Amino acid sequence: MHTDPGRVIRAQAEALGFTRVRFARASDAPGIAAYDAFLSQGRHGSMGWMVASRGPRANPGELLPGVRSAVVLGVDHAWPRPADPGGLTGKVASYAWGRDYHNLVGKRLRRLARDLREALPDLGVYWGVDSRPLIERAWAERSGMGFIGRNCCLIVPGQGSYLFLAVLLIDVDLEPDLPRGGADRHCGSCRRCLDVCPTDAFVDSHQLDARRCISYLTIEHRGAIPEPLRAGMGRWVFGCDLCQEVCPHNHAPPPSPEPDLAPRPDHAWLPLPALLQTPDDVLEQSLLGSPLRRPGAIGLKRNACVVLGNLGDVAAIPVLEAQRHRGDLVVEHAEWALDRLGAGS
Ligand code: SF4
Repeated sequence: MHTDPGRVIRAQAEALGFTRVRFARASDAPGIAAYDAFLSQGRHGSMGWMVASRGPRANPGELLPGVRSAVVLGVDHAWPRPADPGGLTGKVASYAWGRDYHNLVGKRLRRLARDLREALPDLGVYWGVDSRPLIERAWAERSGMGFIGRNCCLIVPGQGSYLFLAVLLIDVDLEPDLPRGGADRHCGSCRRCLDVCPTDAFVDSHQLDARRCISYLTIEHRGAIPEPLRAGMGRWVFGCDLCQEVCPHNHAPPPSPEPDLAPRPDHAWLPLPALLQTPDDVLEQSLLGSPLRRPGAIGLKRNACVVLGNLGDVAAIPVLEAQRHRGDLVVEHAEWALDRLGAGS
């Protein structure tokens, strides 16, 4: 009996917990013009891997010879934000409250690829999640899953942008899911995300300068945070959700079905003095399996100093002064915060 690969793929992906499954043609790669413009302006900052991975992003055939279709997968990750505990705490972007999505989605993709090879032995498969060389949101837009908003996020109309994306390339033709039309499939006259950004990271609609983006500065950037941008970080100690929080499409996102993505204790609001007082190796060990581990202990402590400076609470002075013994960039950020609190040396 003839097996419909599309039906098999959809059924197996849904069985593994992917809440969104759509197909796109893969004769060429979407989103490359915008990607090239981003790189040519140097807006990727120190993310050299974005330059290095440009080739396969533009030519999916480098990843899977004979590629014909892309399977675009999504997992909703919205959980309600735990109540603000106040005090000397820093705010964490919602995607990082639970288990590291690279682990969660990566494990499922591996299983899906394995299950598909068993069910469809002749099928060629390439899978990737985020760090892999694919522009997931562009593939998602081509598949009709949603549209790319002015905030550069993939938005499912009326359901929002709180979802993890992954793409699987295969070497058979699937009936593509086409982008749907309709007035709700673009931003209209809304500009809330551009206006809310406290560091002016949006150069224009659909144009982000990562070097000014709080998410980049607090997660990917390894050096000192430029002084003119520190005040704009406010309470964000890891990532930022502002351009998603204000989006009308995120008014009532579908709740995540994933218990593993539920907020871990203290992971939505980081207690900053405790973070600074924890030895670096112990801190990193405690964050195993969490996205919060990405900037390393030094990066997190750098961010914590900036937020403590922004909070304006002199109760932070002793813990900031205690950073002066360090021999790394945390010291300069602690000094900056102490200056803000009127306790500079
Ligand atoms: Fe588009 Fe408004 Fe959402 Fe920004 S906030 S992505 S402009 S709908």
